[in-house]
Amino acid sequence: MFYEYEGSIHCHSRYSDGSGSLEEIINKATLAKLDFVILTDHDTLAPLFDGYEGWHDNLLLLVGQEISPKSGCHYLAFNLEKEIQGKERTDYQNLIDEVNELGGFGFIAHPYGAKKPPLLVRKGHLWTDWQVERYCGIEIWSYMVDWVNNVNFFTFIYYQVFPERAIKGPPSEALQKWDEIAQNRHIVGIGSTDAHALSFPFFRFIKFLPYEYLYCTIRTHVLLNKPLSKSSLHEDKREIYAALKAGNCFIAHDIIADSTGFLFSGNIGGVNDLVMGQETTFNQMAKLSVFVPYHAEIRLLRNGQIIQNIDAKKLHISINESGVYRVEVYLEGRPWIFSNPIFLRNS
Ligand SMILES: [Zn+2]
Ligand SMILES: [Zn+2]
Repeated sequence: MFYEYEGSIHCHSRYSDGSGSLEEIINKATLAKLDFVILTDHDTLAPLFDGYEGWHDNLLLLVGQEISPKSGCHYLAFNLEKEIQGKERTDYQNLIDEVNELGGFGFIAHPYGAKKPPLLVRKGHLWTDWQVERYCGIEIWSYMVDWVNNVNFFTFIYYQVFPERAIKGPPSEALQKWDEIAQNRHIVGIGSTDAHALSFPFFRFIKFLPYEYLYCTIRTHVLLNKPLSKSSLHEDKREIYAALKAGNCFIAHDIIADSTGFLFSGNIGGVNDLVMGQETTFNQMAKLSVFVPYHAEIRLLRNGQIIQNIDAKKLHISINESGVYRVEVYLEGRPWIFSNPIFLRNS
C-alpha cells in the first residue's frame, strides 16, 4: 500500500525569469490540486531564505535551484540550504559533487535541450558531459522542451491555442540515454514543466503557457510508505525527496487523464516486494505487475526493448531473466505514463 502525491517539478518565479509571484504560484498550484511544487529558480535560493518553503494549506512548496552555467548545461539541485554559484561552471562533475557535499541531490535538466521560446529556433541548453557520475537522475520529459521543439514561427499561434497538439512525449534520445545508463547504475527519471509563464511581447496580458495550465500537464507522482504529516516541513520534505531519490515515482501527462493509482510493482520468489525505482539481485523467478486506472496500451520494456505490449488495465508477467524493466503507457495513442524502472541485476 502506497500513499501517492502529485507534484510539479521545475518552476520559475519572479525570483529569476518566471513571471509569477510566489503568492500566484501557490494559488495556482493549489487550484490545480497539486500536492507539491518544487521551485527551481535560476541560480538563487532566495524564495527559501524569504521563508516560502513549507505548507501553504494543502500545498507543499519546496525550493530547489536550477544551477545554470552559461554553457546551457543546467542542473536541478534539491535539498540545498546554501546557493551554489553556477554561471561560470564548466566542470560539471565538480558541480554535482558540490551539491552532494552540501547534502543535496540533483537531476540533469533538459538533457537534449530545446529551441528557445517563444519564436527562436536556435537549439541550446544541451547537457554535454555524459561521463559524469553521482547525479541522481535526468529530466526525461519536460513540457516546455516538448512544446517548443514542435513549434515554429508559423505554427506558434496555433499551438498557443491548442498546446496539447504539440506534445509528442519524451525525446527518444532521452529515453535511450536513460536505458543505457540504467544498465550500469541506478538512475531516476523525472517529468517537469519548466514553467515560466512569460508574457507575450506587446500583449502582456496574454501569458505564454501559464502556470495554471502547466500545473495540469506533466506531473511526477511519488509513492510513499506513509502519509505526509502536513504539519512538519522537515519530515514531509525528507519523505518526498527520499522517494524522488529512490525512483519510487512515475511521470504522467495528467491533462489527458488522471493517472492516480498507476502502479508498477512485483515480487521475487513470491515474497520480496518490489516497486518502481527498486534495485535488487535477480536470483529466482520474479513477477511484475502493472495497474493502470484506465484501459490503455501498456508497454513493458526490458533494457529499452519492448517485450510485452497489450491493451488492458493490468498486466501480470513472470520474469526469468535479469534486466532493467520499465513501463510506458499510451492512452488512445498519446504518451501518458512513464514509470521508473525496476532493476533486476545479476548477482
Ligand atoms: Zn534550464
Ligand atoms: Zn528551467
